[in-house]
Formats: sequence, C-alpha cells, structure tokens
Amino acid sequence: MKRQPLIVANWKMHKQLKEALEFVRELRRLGADQLRDRTVVLCAPATALLALSEVLKDSAIRLGAQNAHWEQAGAFTGEISPTQLLDVGCSYVILGHSERREHFAETDDRVRQKLRAALCAGLHPIVCVGERGEEREAQRTHRVLERQIGVGLGDLAPTELGKMAVAYEPVWAIGTGVTARPDQAQQAQQFIRSCVAKAYGPEAAQALRILYGGSVQPDHMDSLLAQPDVDGALVGGASLSAQDFWRIISFHSQLTPTHGSV
Ligand code: PEP
Repeated sequence: MKRQPLIVANWKMHKQLKEALEFVRELRRLGADQLRDRTVVLCAPATALLALSEVLKDSAIRLGAQNAHWEQAGAFTGEISPTQLLDVGCSYVILGHSERREHFAETDDRVRQKLRAALCAGLHPIVCVGERGEEREAQRTHRVLERQIGVGLGDLAPTELGKMAVAYEPVWAIGTGVTARPDQAQQAQQFIRSCVAKAYGPEAAQALRILYGGSVQPDHMDSLLAQPDVDGALVGGASLSAQDFWRIISFHSQLTPTHGSV
C-alpha cells in the first residue's frame, strides 16, 4: 500500500488576510506547485479561507480549516459547519487539536461527532491525538492513544480511513521547541496503526496516513519521514514563515517503500 506524504500547516489564530495572501504568493514562487509527489495543505483562519481559495484555484496547494461543527447547519451562533467549509473551497479540516481539547473542552465523543459530519460533507478530516507530558511519564501513552483512537474514530467504515488522516501530536511537544525523537514518533505511530488495524482491519490501517506534529522544524523532516509509520507532518510555528514552510515541504527524504512516489 502506497501512502503519499501529507504536510499540513496549522496557522492557528495568526495572520491578517494580507499576510495570508503574501505567504501563498511566496510559497508558490518558491515552487510549491511543482511538488507532485506529496500533498501540501494550508489550514488557515476562517477569515482568510474564501480569499485563499480564490488564489489557490489553479494550485496544487490544498486549503483546510482548523475546526468544524458537528452539524451541517443550525442555531449554533459563531460556529462553522463542514458544508460551509466545503462551500468556500476547503478540502481538509483539523479536528480535535489539543488546544481545542484544552481550551474548548472538546472530548473524544465530540471529536467522533465532528469526524462523522466532516466525512459526510466530503472533507478530509485530520484527527489529532497525543498524550500529555505527565501521561508519558506515567507510561500511559498507549492507554491514552488507544482511548482517543477508539472513541474518537468510532464506527467508521474501513474505506473511510483512506479519506482521512490522524496526527500524532504529543502535547508536550506542541509549541515547546521539544520535538519527539524520530524513534518516539515511530513507536507511537506504529501503535496507533495497530489500534486501527485491530478495529478496522489491516488493509484500512495501511491506507491511513499518520502525521507527526510537535515543534517540527525543516531539519527534522528527513529523519521523521524516514520512519515507516510517519506519513507526513502537521506544523504550527514553523508554518508561519513561507521560507521555513518551503524547506519543510521540500524535504528530500529517502521515502520508505510505504510512501508512494506519485
Ligand atoms: C500544532 O499546532 O499542531 C503544532 C504542532 O504546533 P508547533 O509545530 O508549533 O509545535
């Protein structure tokens, strides 16, 4: 099973519209549209999505959002539905980011509802999971990941695994400058794939792209992507600079046989 690398920028609550448009102009000038053997996604703030989708119409760069509601429409003041994201040109959406879990009390149940809604709308969801530092220290990493995957993915059809991705983002590595070692990422991501295989079968598990996220810098990409269960990266801070993000998406890793070349 070939899995094409997926590299996703998470701009969080950063960038005015002008800055977002300048970033895209610069990234395309550097050559992002020529990277045909990997998928590059910009998850921008909602305020920039429509304008970005206009300028990305003829581009290989895909557009994503950072959150979505679990209903397609309704009386939910201030919220945005998956159908609305699709309508303004998004094809990806991040769900269950640790900052949403921490600051907005998102539970695994809620993530599952959002995942179902996003898939129904035709989006490619990226579901974030990952243990806190104290959970790792208490050797509870596997227990946490098992719960987040078991409850958060819920009762998917096995074929739906190929339409989505999981991002392993250890909370202790997000925005801290402390990146997981490649072997730590591999160990956790292999475990995530084994949980998925148990629930949905080995074929579905092989189709699932599992990204690593947590203080990724350009120099980390080759060693991370050399791991057999690391299929890409979810990048926060280093995705805010077009130059840095270009260095991240243009990594030249020797892709392992699980990674496709087309
Ligand atoms: C993230 O926000 O998903 C993330 C991984 O952030 P950073 O790269 O800044 O750690």
